[in-house]
Amino acid sequence: MILTDTHTHLYSEEFQNDRTEMIQRAIAVGVSRFFVPSIDSSYTQRMYDLENQFPENIYLMMGLHPCYVKPETYLEELAHVETQLTSKKFHAVGEIGVDMYWDKTTLKIQQEAFKKQIQLAKQYKLAINIHCRDAFDEVFEVLESEKANDLFGIFHCFTGDFSQAQRAIDLGMKLGIGGVVTFKNGKIDQFLHEIDLKNIVLETDSPYLAPVPYRGKRNESSYTKLVAEKLAQIYQLTVEEIAQITTENSKAIFGI
Ligand SMILES: [Zn+2]
Repeated sequence: MILTDTHTHLYSEEFQNDRTEMIQRAIAVGVSRFFVPSIDSSYTQRMYDLENQFPENIYLMMGLHPCYVKPETYLEELAHVETQLTSKKFHAVGEIGVDMYWDKTTLKIQQEAFKKQIQLAKQYKLAINIHCRDAFDEVFEVLESEKANDLFGIFHCFTGDFSQAQRAIDLGMKLGIGGVVTFKNGKIDQFLHEIDLKNIVLETDSPYLAPVPYRGKRNESSYTKLVAEKLAQIYQLTVEEIAQITTENSKAIFGI
């Protein structure tokens, strides 16, 4: 069984004491493909070191996270993203998008950075990995303006409703489903069976949003299997079938 964690912050400080063991623990339960989103330039070297340590398993994205779009630094940070994209192979531009939960004052430059990075993804023929928190309208506004056949990617940590799911899919996105689907009040479990599995990929967003029974604790990539088990219940399939289909979906997006 091959499970794919399409969004995991393996370089996070939360893993500083047991990072290698944590990655090996995931591989041991079948989670052997890790797609690692970027946050800002301060993490870039750590991402490259990890890729060197696990070249068969770790695939990197490059991008500026919306919570790190700051007036004083974002142009420099975007230039860093562009420089990295020209210098080596990445598998997506991410994570990018809009976050209205932490800081509403930067909306305009968040949208500007999002749009610019979508254009970079198109230029490099890459997928995008979208971060959207309390900002569906603001994200869709930018996506609609960039709608095209070469716009594709993943709506990471999808927590919207059925019509928002349809809208994301119509814009070329797959839905990244993680720990929230196991939450009692998570809501997406109630309509997910109406979404064709070909539009779904698995993720953890480690170290955040651990699935039940680890809710509230540190998340890690091995828990992708718990998400797969929940989807097996929802779709009335085996975990192996969920693993196979969602891994194929991830290959279609990331090209590997
Ligand atoms: Zn993330």
